Amino acid sequence: MNKGKQPVLKVKNMKKHFPIKGGIIKRTKSYVRAVDGISFDVQEQETFSLVGESGCGKSTTGRSILRLTEPTDGEVYFNGEEVLECTQKEFRKYRKDMQMIFQDPFSSLNPRMTVKSLLLEPLMTHKLYSKEEALDKVYEVAERVGLSKEQVSRHPHEFSGGQRQRISIARALIMNPKLIILDEAVSALDVSIQAQILNLLIDLQKEFKLTYVFISHDLNVVKHLSDRIGVMYLGQMMEMTTTESLFNHPLHPYTKSLLSAIPSYDRNKKKDRIVLKGDVPDPANPPSGCPFRLRCPQAHELCETQKPTYQEVKDNHWVACHLYNEDSRVNETKQGLEHAY
Ligand code: SF4
Repeated sequence: MNKGKQPVLKVKNMKKHFPIKGGIIKRTKSYVRAVDGISFDVQEQETFSLVGESGCGKSTTGRSILRLTEPTDGEVYFNGEEVLECTQKEFRKYRKDMQMIFQDPFSSLNPRMTVKSLLLEPLMTHKLYSKEEALDKVYEVAERVGLSKEQVSRHPHEFSGGQRQRISIARALIMNPKLIILDEAVSALDVSIQAQILNLLIDLQKEFKLTYVFISHDLNVVKHLSDRIGVMYLGQMMEMTTTESLFNHPLHPYTKSLLSAIPSYDRNKKKDRIVLKGDVPDPANPPSGCPFRLRCPQAHELCETQKPTYQEVKDNHWVACHLYNEDSRVNETKQGLEHAY
């Protein structure tokens, strides 16, 4: 990662709180803290993955960056320019360069339109090409993602799940974006098709110098694609580091439990599964102190009263846990850091 270079994307203390209304006059009673102050940078041509269980806020983060839902607070910089301050109309000039691919291509592709119309639509909206040039571009991009000229005249329902995801990729790619946010883009696909789509994404990234934010609940899927990974829990970042470091030297108890749940196909590599107690707490009523404390096997007194500071404990390795917090009283009895590296 080019640490000194200006990142393509910079997210600073972003929050998205959804109001819960009640009573006759529908007054705001409380808030669901879907995203609660997360920060990260993504460098050019990097793949940064956000992982965590369902409901941890990773998809809301992706949608908030593209202002598909307006963030409550925080800053988002794209190529050094703040993009939350401008009006939605002004934001359109950035949207061309920032595309999103969703889990369910069927619901994101208009079933009444042919693939050709679906691919032409964004080009015509942004008035980027003449009609003839746009058509050439449609065939060129469709072919690049593995769709023939004949298939381009068909409707989305005539395709398999994997092919429909190729259409979504083509629709994002046709705008020549710099950044693509992929929200569970391969989660609904069979393992063999998943591999094909992931390989396609890797090839396209090299060819078109793309930057990815890859959102997934599956650490196994992001392993082969990501340069760095951020682990989210209850709207907050628990750990963020390089893929190599996360898999070989995980620090946060939550990351360790996620990694222990990945099945190992190596008989000699026996893993002790860390089974977490309970469910993810209600984001409208998060626990005091550390958000993970109710399920953490290493929770102690301090975790209940004091929220751990999210800090860089080693070069490019960030964690929010008292076990690694130099300022915490628990530091005297910290467990694990000595043998973590
Ligand atoms: Fe567990 Fe405490 Fe660390 Fe939270 S701060 S992850 S509860 S040890």
